[in-house]
Formats: sequence, structure tokens, C-alpha cells
Amino acid sequence: MSGMTLQTAEQAGEVLTGLALGLGATGEEDALWNAIDPAIWAETHNPWTTLARASRVHVRGLLADAAFRGKIAEIAAAREAARRAPGWFDGLPEGKRPGCIAYFSMEYMLSESLPIYSGGLGNVAGDQLKAASDLNVPVVAVGLLFAQGYFRQEFTPDGQQRALYPFNDPSQLPVRPVLDENGDWLRLALDVPAGTIWIRAWQVQVGRATLYLLDTNDPANPSSVRCITTQLYGGDAGLRLRQEIVLGIAGWRLLMRLGYQPEVCHLNEGHAALAAVERARVLRLELGVSFREALMIARAGTVFTTHTAVPAGFDRFPPGLVAGYLAEYVIAGLDMPVEEFIALGRETPGNEAEPFNMAWLAIRVSGAVNGVSALHGEVSRALFAPLFPRWPEAEVPVGHVTNGVHVATWAAPDRGRPEQDDATLWSHRCAARTRFVRKIADQHASRQCFIGEGGLECFPVPALRPDVLTLGFARRFASYKRPDLLLTDPDRLARLLADPTRPMQLVLAGKAHPADVVGQALITRWIAFSRREDVLGRVVFLADYDMELARILVRGVDLWINTPRRPWEACGTSGMKVLANGGLNFSELDGWWAEAFTPEVGWALGDGKEHGEDPATDAAEAEALYHMLETEIAGAFYARDTENVPTAWVKRMRASMTSLTPAFSAERAVQDYTTRYYIPAAARYRRRLDGGAQEARDLAAWRDRLAAQWGDLRFAAVSRNDADGLHHVAVTVELGRLEAGDVRLELYADPRSGAEAEVIDVPAVSKTVSSGALRYELSVALKRPASEYTVRVVPFHSEVMVPLEANFILWEH
Ligand SMILES: *Cc1c(COP(=O)(O)O)cnc(C)c1O
Repeated sequence: MSGMTLQTAEQAGEVLTGLALGLGATGEEDALWNAIDPAIWAETHNPWTTLARASRVHVRGLLADAAFRGKIAEIAAAREAARRAPGWFDGLPEGKRPGCIAYFSMEYMLSESLPIYSGGLGNVAGDQLKAASDLNVPVVAVGLLFAQGYFRQEFTPDGQQRALYPFNDPSQLPVRPVLDENGDWLRLALDVPAGTIWIRAWQVQVGRATLYLLDTNDPANPSSVRCITTQLYGGDAGLRLRQEIVLGIAGWRLLMRLGYQPEVCHLNEGHAALAAVERARVLRLELGVSFREALMIARAGTVFTTHTAVPAGFDRFPPGLVAGYLAEYVIAGLDMPVEEFIALGRETPGNEAEPFNMAWLAIRVSGAVNGVSALHGEVSRALFAPLFPRWPEAEVPVGHVTNGVHVATWAAPDRGRPEQDDATLWSHRCAARTRFVRKIADQHASRQCFIGEGGLECFPVPALRPDVLTLGFARRFASYKRPDLLLTDPDRLARLLADPTRPMQLVLAGKAHPADVVGQALITRWIAFSRREDVLGRVVFLADYDMELARILVRGVDLWINTPRRPWEACGTSGMKVLANGGLNFSELDGWWAEAFTPEVGWALGDGKEHGEDPATDAAEAEALYHMLETEIAGAFYARDTENVPTAWVKRMRASMTSLTPAFSAERAVQDYTTRYYIPAAARYRRRLDGGAQEARDLAAWRDRLAAQWGDLRFAAVSRNDADGLHHVAVTVELGRLEAGDVRLELYADPRSGAEAEVIDVPAVSKTVSSGALRYELSVALKRPASEYTVRVVPFHSEVMVPLEANFILWEH
């Protein structure tokens, strides 16, 4: 496209529309959008919104101007060059690079102009998609286009949250219809018990990655169907299940219809687990294998990321509901009894009282599973342990990739840089705070006025100060996040804020789910507090926490506070957004902060242990929160050198910016996913698929044989003795009908204080089984008393992931 000239206004208009639709605009382009509509551009910084709302007459005038068309051509050429530029992914060894990774998520937070997100989960999906584009990792993403998205928030005069559902007019969103080969709008048909429903498809350009969004708002559908994709996280279990059917089943079908051949399918949370089921259904038909065999292939190429730290966070459906919606699909499409399918979502297959758990389904259709921080990996191993009975918790097959944020999205372009000297870095920080304070005053002050039966009622507009230590606290008002911990002693907080020599100001934001009355009451408490005489102008609660507001906050505040109840913050990402901007973190040792914190980079709350919902712990942590703010934090911020620079504070800023920004970036997270998950998953998927899926057939048969014969396995004799400083183990195992190569004998010791768990392979004396028994022997120097060891038999197959795909185990004791 370089050297392109745009001769006509029409051509230029088309190219301009394409540019505006592409999320991921660069600062170089600001002048272009500013020319189109300076007011809307300044308000939204969003090309598509600016173009969609600008005056047609004005735009036509611009397009008639050859110089302006030249500017468009130049930008289009730059975008094209960026699209073609190699990324990190291109540097990976050729044979290893997966050709296509399909990414499924219920929500995406990409831009405030595309409000189809609620919070953290969408943030992870959106930021990782942008990073994948930057790195040129070939990700194609799938989600839903919600007509109303998540609710928008406003407050009543008495500080109650009100939920609003403005309509997302698709013509005003940066999306366009997906067209088929004839140029017609692609429609997917999905057969459900009540008949055929129509699903529409849209596409969003995110840098060089494409996100496909599905919706059911086709006028040909009955009203109940049209409403499936109206709200994110609204409605009942039935609605959620139907959304997940559309996301997973129709989403996978769309990719097939468009000719994608994903080797890896990444499930961002269990919502999309049906994508892997649909994938297996398609493979079953194509290869003429059974569903179990097809699943052996599909799951090898499926990665499941779990995001919750509590069992209540998993979607659970009444089995009747699942059967109601999916019976025909399962019977006809999977050639499987419904009960057998429902068992995939249960801990105990035959337990009819047990609901259908989407996380259980997800782990059973995946070849790799991960949590989103080191601590959350550990917590998830405990949550998923019931599916691996008698396996040590440390061996439950859940790893972790700590989340990260897309730095270019959250960092202010004119921020300070860690390589600058103290005074310069500090002056940038002060400038950012000043802009922030002004922005809050300009944009959000009017929201303090209400019109009610008593006419117009305005609360005093609090003007924050540009030179005061500014604290930020914004998140979902869910009780595990303890958004009221800072309010434990309101008078003490008020004194802290109004301190005559070391004052502070606090900016808050956050929504509580419309069904969460407790969370809503906490918001009302904060609003009441912000209206107290003695804190006026020192506390602001901003309405409608969204991506734009988050960006303003993380760029402006000095200190980001987070007070979750450990270990329920799976990762948390908002604190990462302040890093590049020079903000510091003061947070509970939970989620990412548990691995990021050192005293050089910020402050920590809590003792790094779990205490449940213990009121005494809450009280002690509130005390520590106040104390730290009153002493160390106020001290560091207000201790100035002769040039009025807080050197200790700036030192922390520099350490936090340099060491944490790259480590907690989405770029690092996507690199981790690629090298540790996508590449091995793609390789395993290909091995199972190649050659008419012979390996998958063999593996399915192997697994069935183990399931049938594992019960025959016995320890015939175990002998141990110590000689010459070595421990000698000799074990005879009765294999029954199993073969020598099917199992492995291991010497195992539990983790103890000061000692890790140990697993030592004990070799068989011969490869052949004589009269159904096999003898194993090993002489080994043990690291601890022999009495701490026991022996066990586990499945073994070089191509099977144990225990994920074969969870059998036999212990000596
Ligand atoms: C970053 C972000 C979140 C996630 O923040 P947590 O740290 O997980 O609380 C939620 N909502 C918005 C609008 C965000 O920008």
C-alpha cells in the first residue's frame, strides 16, 4: 500500500473507515482524528467514535482536500507496514510455530467504544489480544456482541447505585459484519430443541489480530433468542448456558465456516468449554472416529485458563437444563448418551444430585490448565483436587501464567521514564497528578448534580489538589475485595486525609453487580463518607468505572490500594496498570502482588497467610493499613530534599518502573503462553491427528484398557533395607492384564516442613512380565528417613498427560 495515492474522496473515505475501525491507533495519527472532530476526539480519543459522530458535511470537505487524502494514505501505509513487520513470534524456530490459535472469551475489554466487558476477565482477554498482535502471535479471537453489555452505573441523590442499560448501536461500534464469499452478511444456523436459530457474525480489527463477535439479535429469531446476547452477566442459569452454547458451539462453527484451522484453542475461563466439545464433534465426523477418540485429539490442542479462586466462581448448571438444551446435540452430534456427557461436568459421574460444572467440563476437554498467578495456581490445584482422587495436591495438573497488562494501552504517552534523573521523573509525576485533578474536575464534577422531585440538587463539587498525595481505589465492589477495609474507622481515615502537614486525597470508583445488595451498600457508605464536612474535597467517588476512567486513574494517582481477602484475588491487574505510569502499589499479599512485592518497590498488607473471613484479621489489617499510610507512606511522600523532590519515594518509583513493568506486561504473559502452552499443545495435537488419527485411536483404547484393568493391580511384595548408606527397595507388582510399559513404579515422599515432595522413578528389573508380576528394584541415597517414603504405581504412556488424562493411582498404603 506504500506509495498509494487516494484519487477520489470515495476511495479515501473507505480507507479512512478502515483506519477508524482498527483498534490500536498510534499517537502519530492524532492530528488526523483531531481534524475530523476536535471536540469528540478530545473527549473520546477514539477514532471510530470520532468518525461516526463527526459532521458528514465536514468530513466530505476534508476528503475533497488532496493534502488530507495524502495524510490518510500515509497513515494507511504506516499501518500496513506495521502489520507486515515481523514480531517476536517470527523469531521462533520455524517448525515450532503454531499456525493458528483460537482464543475464546465471554468478554473483551479493548476500548471504551466497544463496551462488551465487565472487568478483570475482559481486561486479560483484551490486553493479551493486543499483545498477541504486537508479537505477531497468530491469534484469532471469538466473543459475543452484547446489545447492552454490562450495566452502566449512576447514583441517586442519596448515594444508591442505579443500573442503566444503554443500547450498543452496532452502527456506532468499531465492528463490521462478517461477509461470506458472495458479499452477503454471514448467518450461522444453530439447531436447538425449539428449531433453528440464526446467529450473526461481526468482526473487529485489533491491530493485526481479528476478533469475531457473535450475536443473536437477528429479527428472524423469536424474541427469547434475540435476547440471548443482550446483557453480559445478567439473567439466570438458563440464559448463561445459552450464551455459552452460542460462544462455544457457534463460535467454533464460525471459525470452521471461515476456513480457520486452529491448532490450539485457548479457553479464557470455563465459559467457552463447549468450543472444545464442538471441535471434537467436527473431528469425529471428519475422521470417522468415536467422540472419545476425537476428544483425545481436540483436548491435546486445548488450553484452559481458570480465573476464580473460589468454587462459587465456577458456572454450575442443573443437569436437566443441560440435557434440555443439549440432548439432541449430544445424541446426534456426539453419538453419546446424554448421561455420559453430563458426567464430564461432574466430580462423581453417576451422582444425579450433582450439578454440571463448566470448569470440570473444561479440564476434561483440555490438555493443559493454568491459573493466573503463582498463588492462584496453588489455590486452583486445591479446587481441582477432587477430580484427581488420591493424587497429592501438588501434582494436580494446574500450572500458572501470571497475567500482565498491555503497557501501551494503560501508560500515558507523556509519562516520566525511569532513566530520567530524580527531579525530572518527579516533575512528570506531578504533571500527571495535576492533569488528573483537572480532568476529574472537568469531566466528573457535573455528575454530582441530580434532578429529582425537589428540582435540581447539587452536592458541593470537591476540588482535589494537585500537590497532595493521591490514593486510588477502584474495583468491583465484591465483598472478597473488602472495599470497606479503609472505612473500618471513618474518623481515623478522615484525620489521615485532613492532616495539616501531610494531607492525602482519595479517588474511588467501582460497580457492584445489580444482584449484590451488600456490595451496593458499601458504595453507598463510601458516598456518604465522601460528603462529610471534614473530608470535602479530599474524597471523590466517581461513577461508572470503565476502561476510560481506569486509564485516567492509573495515569494520575500516586498510590494504588488493593485490599482483597487472601487468597481470593486470583491475580488482579489494576495495580499493574500504574507501574509504567510511576504509581506505586500498597496491596494485600495476594494475587500478582504476592509474587511482585519487595520492600524496594512498594508496600504490603497482611502476613502472606490465609485467614478466611476472620473479623480479627480484618481489624488487624485495617490497623496496619492506617498505620502504614500515616507513618511510612506519608513520610516517604512528604520528605523532600532542597529541590522539593521526595527522594525515597522517587527511588521506589524507579525500582517499581524498571523491575515490575516488563515482568507484569501482557507481552510477557503472551510469550509465556506461547512457549509453555501453545507450542507443546500444537505439537501434541498434530501428533494425535496425523496419519488418520491413529495415535488418538490407540490412546483412547489404551485409556479404556487402563480404566477396565486398573482394579486388578496389586502390590505382591515390598521389601526395603539400608546398606552401605543406600536405601534398597524391591517391589513386586501384580499387573493383572496390564503390560509392563503401562505403568511406572515410584518412590514418593510427601512435602514436609523444609523438604519438597520427592518422586523417584524405580526401574523394573526386566521388561517382561512373568506370571502376571513385575519386579522393580532401586538402591538410592535418600535425603530423609526411609520411613517417610512410600511406593506407588501410576499410569505411563509417553504421549499421555498423567494425571490429566489418566488419573489412576495405586499406593502401597
Ligand atoms: C483493570 C480493570 C479491572 C480489573 O482490575 P482488578 O485489579 O482485577 O480489580 C476491572 N475493571 C476495569 C474497568 C479495569 O480497567
